[in-house]
Amino acid sequence: MQSGKTVTTGLVLRETETKETDKILTVLTPDLGKITLIARGARRRNSPLAAACQLLTYSELTVYQRGAWRYVSEGSTIELFDGVRQDFELLSLASYFAELTESVAGEEQPAAEVLALLLNALFALGELRKDPELVKPVFELRLMALAGFEPLSDGCAVCGKTEPERPMLDVVQGIVHCAGCKQPGGLSLPLTKGSLAALRHALYADPKRLYSFRVEPSALRELNHAAEGFVAAQLERSFRTLDYYKTIKTTR
Ligand SMILES: [Zn+2]
Repeated sequence: MQSGKTVTTGLVLRETETKETDKILTVLTPDLGKITLIARGARRRNSPLAAACQLLTYSELTVYQRGAWRYVSEGSTIELFDGVRQDFELLSLASYFAELTESVAGEEQPAAEVLALLLNALFALGELRKDPELVKPVFELRLMALAGFEPLSDGCAVCGKTEPERPMLDVVQGIVHCAGCKQPGGLSLPLTKGSLAALRHALYADPKRLYSFRVEPSALRELNHAAEGFVAAQLERSFRTLDYYKTIKTTR
């Protein structure tokens, strides 16, 4: 027997091709968090599900449960993010955002804030044409904070100074400290006044203004280095999509 249908919105984080013409999708939804959906026939030419079942497409999805699985019966695209999709570099960065999101999103746990963060990041890249090297660390840090890995950055975690002297981010312990206050056992990456201000902005700014700030290119490089180091240390893994993005990105 088939249980009732529900309608949700969702962004496709991963698509896996399976037998014949089906796809298995990992979708981020506001209310159910990360869910797995089977899209029957989605790879068939002229399938009404084809558009809604592509990686990084945001759609309204009609979903039903049968046995242990959820299936998509209808999909209506809301946003295809063409600006991202048509630019190879942006698409590869967005694929990393999707993989990183998938790694921290819980199954069946509401994820409205994480979904909004990711949608806004894709919009900032594809429509607002924000600098990918600015969007990337801000997205990484804000996502980590939403997932429960927020670094303590309001002052030096050791001496308490609001503006640490020669600030550093200890990516293992998740704290900011002065270079002179370094404790054994961590892994500290250098920041400056500018990159620390940007890190705080990434963590605390109003979501609507997340990508609206300017910072020196050197501070942005530090912020990227620190954010990447923080993700790797906290999640204890690497990301294939990030490695790929780094091999193709335009050198700035
Ligand atoms: Zn200190």
